[in-house]
Amino acid sequence: MNSGYELYRLGEEHEAVREAVRALAEKEIAPFAAEVDEHERYPDEALAALNKAGFNAPHIPDAYDGQGADSVAANIVIEEVARVCAASSLIPAVNKLGTMNLILGGSEELKKQVLPSIAAGEMASYALSEREAGSDTASMRTRARLDGDHWVLNGTKCWITNAGISTWYTVMAVSDPDADKPANGISAFMVHKDDPGFSIGPKERKLGIKGSPTREIYFEDCTIPADRIIGEPGQGLKLAFRTLDHTRHSIGAQALGIAQGALEATIAYVKERKQFRKAIADFQGVQFMLADMGMKIEAARHLVYAAAAKVERGDSDASFASSAAKTFASDTAMQVTTDAVQLFGGAGYTRDFPVERMMRDAKITQIYEGTNQIQRMVMARQLLR
Ligand SMILES: Cc1cc2nc3c(=O)[nH]c(=O)nc-3n(C[C@H](O)[C@H](O)[C@H](O)COP(=O)(O)OP(=O)(O)OC[C@H]3O[C@@H](n4cnc5c(N)ncnc54)[C@H](O)[C@@H]3O)c2cc1C
Repeated sequence: MNSGYELYRLGEEHEAVREAVRALAEKEIAPFAAEVDEHERYPDEALAALNKAGFNAPHIPDAYDGQGADSVAANIVIEEVARVCAASSLIPAVNKLGTMNLILGGSEELKKQVLPSIAAGEMASYALSEREAGSDTASMRTRARLDGDHWVLNGTKCWITNAGISTWYTVMAVSDPDADKPANGISAFMVHKDDPGFSIGPKERKLGIKGSPTREIYFEDCTIPADRIIGEPGQGLKLAFRTLDHTRHSIGAQALGIAQGALEATIAYVKERKQFRKAIADFQGVQFMLADMGMKIEAARHLVYAAAAKVERGDSDASFASSAAKTFASDTAMQVTTDAVQLFGGAGYTRDFPVERMMRDAKITQIYEGTNQIQRMVMARQLLR
């Protein structure tokens, strides 16, 4: 036997990250998860704990005062927080989403202006979607017009995670309505919450991730300095799609964490709950369900870490892998959490146990950052290329 064999397991540094985040999540985030959901309130305790430990935006490079975590480490943070509270896991996940355009394509000056503040605890959001431009992002209507040394933005973005909490917003808008293709006329900008003409709407009333506010944001002659454009005019949608390659596997990590939390709660419950004078864990019908849950989670975990590593290296199939990880892990989370509720019986249907919350939270992972139908289009496009 060779216990030093290192293939197909994470290295010591990554496992150390997991140990540290798990301890923090269990002590400082888990105790508030049910109440955050019940009252649809912001997880302030999670934000404070993550900020203090530097897990709020671990992907920010060292050069901008961040932790410089690679994609696998950043995923472990998201996974471990989601294992106890999916809404709280959107703090590191959306800080990454809201800054990746900038990291991939922004000027040095803009990076220096924004990234250290996110590393220090301010938040970033990502504004791509509109009411009439969800899956079909290129049909967006928000406009950006260059006026001297300023850009002037007009329009409405919807479904913006953590809007109202965030200081910075990565915003995609049409800067050239006459471009040869709509996708070539879109640019990306960094908008600050205090910029004139920027405002936020009321919270959406959601099925799950209730601790994470989702709001519309409005631009009414919103005026920002010209150098807040990310990259060149017309690059915005390409950058947005590159960003999604870097973050879709992180939604896989979030789904994985939710599924893992549900499996652990279920294992504890079926060992305790007795029917027919036996623990229900002794019934083969229950055991087979548990085995399927564990098997799918294990497969999802490998896909999520492998995709993160591919994106980190820039492999040619990274986009496929990122979509595959997100799709498989989110479908797994939905199946596992539904089965978890089933194995809790009537108790699972109540808010006295965490699995109904986990089932409601799992659903969004099949929808946002591109629905799982859109992910399948991305994967098929890459296969057929
Ligand atoms: C809680 C929440 C948080 C979100 N956070 C953000 C955020 O921070 N920033 C942001 O920009 N957006 C965010 N979104 C938006 C999210 O990414 C979109 O909701 C998602 O991309 C789907 O767009 P849509 O809702 O307009 O659905 P639609 O595009 O209207 O899709 C409806 C259905 O049609 C299917 N469909 C559409 N086109 C096709 C096709 N070509 N082939 C097959 N099926 C298709 C879809 O898969 C879906 O099942 C969030 C959404 C929610 C609910």
